[in-house]
Amino acid sequence: MRTLVIGAGIAGLTAALMARAEGHTVTLVTKGFGGLQLSHGTVDILDAERPLEEKDNLPEGHPYHLITANSIKAGVDTFASYVPLAGSCEETKIYPTALGALRRTSLVPVSMASGEITEGASYLLVGFSGLKDFYPLLAAENLSRQGVKARGVKIELTAPGDTALAFSRSLAEPGAAENLGRRLSELAEGEEIIGIPAVLRQSDFDNLAKVTGRSIFQIPLPPPSVPGLDANERLRAACQEARVRFFLNGQAVGALSEGGCITAVKVQIAGSIKEIPTDAVIYAGGGLESGAILFDSYRTLADTVFGLPVSAPTTDPAQILHGDYNGDPQPLFACGLTVDADMRPLNDKGEPAFANLYAAGGMLAGAQRAHEKSGEGIALGSAAQAVAAIVRSQS
Ligand SMILES: Cc1cc2nc3c(=O)[nH]c(=O)nc-3n(C[C@H](O)[C@H](O)[C@H](O)COP(=O)(O)OP(=O)(O)OC[C@H]3O[C@@H](n4cnc5c(N)ncnc54)[C@H](O)[C@@H]3O)c2cc1C
Repeated sequence: MRTLVIGAGIAGLTAALMARAEGHTVTLVTKGFGGLQLSHGTVDILDAERPLEEKDNLPEGHPYHLITANSIKAGVDTFASYVPLAGSCEETKIYPTALGALRRTSLVPVSMASGEITEGASYLLVGFSGLKDFYPLLAAENLSRQGVKARGVKIELTAPGDTALAFSRSLAEPGAAENLGRRLSELAEGEEIIGIPAVLRQSDFDNLAKVTGRSIFQIPLPPPSVPGLDANERLRAACQEARVRFFLNGQAVGALSEGGCITAVKVQIAGSIKEIPTDAVIYAGGGLESGAILFDSYRTLADTVFGLPVSAPTTDPAQILHGDYNGDPQPLFACGLTVDADMRPLNDKGEPAFANLYAAGGMLAGAQRAHEKSGEGIALGSAAQAVAAIVRSQS
């Protein structure tokens, strides 16, 4: 079985690994990497206490009505087998953000796990003088206003640059993480849990945590995010190890079909168009955010690869983007492909457009991912459900 995946975001990379685990010959074509490397590295299923139970209360047309809890669990399990995570799909816990807001999520990188906000705990937030994007005194003050016991301290620490990445490289030098760990342990009082900005790769964080001798955690920063990059690199390395054929800088631009099935995908690579034969396609192009769906100056929506119909919550071009920045989520962000329970995009007649074309992640219509905090759950669940449908189609 030859499966071709379009896109290297969380949905495409995970789908590729799942299809490979089923014994498929997998080709992944992507014009670039996706949102994973910009993300916190956390896995949001839904902004609710019990996401898998509450997903069924979402409005009609939401993709979670088609994506089963078992698919979400299967996708998350695959992702977590490559990226060390703590937590569960069944529930959410609350963690502090870099500004001291409280954010709910289901699974977090292991280095963030001790940051769970729990009753009676007190937190020491430590920032570094040379690092932008993390102000420990402000974050601690904001937490205190919300009833969380916290104080902030800034220590002298610089790197050859003021970004998380510069600090990440500097703290990866032999002994650097351990030195910082010793300094941090001297700052904490009583039972304080130490929070630091997320600048360490998991292995460097482990070295630091060993010498502090107390609970310590990382707090996600704005992108580029070290935990997000870490997750992205782990999945990509896993694809290489699993011998997924990878075309970076390969943009899918169309397809050949016969008898209602796609037989090859046309991919623009290095100035020429290559036709890659395939038995099944998983379209994980990210939707509007990654350019697989276009919104033009006439407010028209179009699918750029297969010419599939794109649905949106409103067909009125004047309503699709409203001017109230702090108001309701923009209808535009819920645009995408309507799919059946096998994740196959539907044509204008409401039938699968192609028998062997499946969609996953940000391609699916009906979700306000950033607002609902459902993006990663939809991506992983739909990837798993699409791969399971391909496997069933073989039997
Ligand atoms: C600002 C912002 C904040 C967000 N915050 C949250 C949040 O807090 N919680 C949450 O759960 N979700 C959030 N989301 C949503 C979440 O980021 C997405 O749902 C998720 O990244 C979708 O993953 P994906 O793999 O489907 O797509 P992407 O990560 O977008 O990957 C798409 C891939 O497809 C490739 N591609 C596109 N077109 C083609 C083509 N023609 N040929 C080949 N390759 C192609 C791209 O290069 C990319 O590799 C946020 C999104 C945004 C924009």
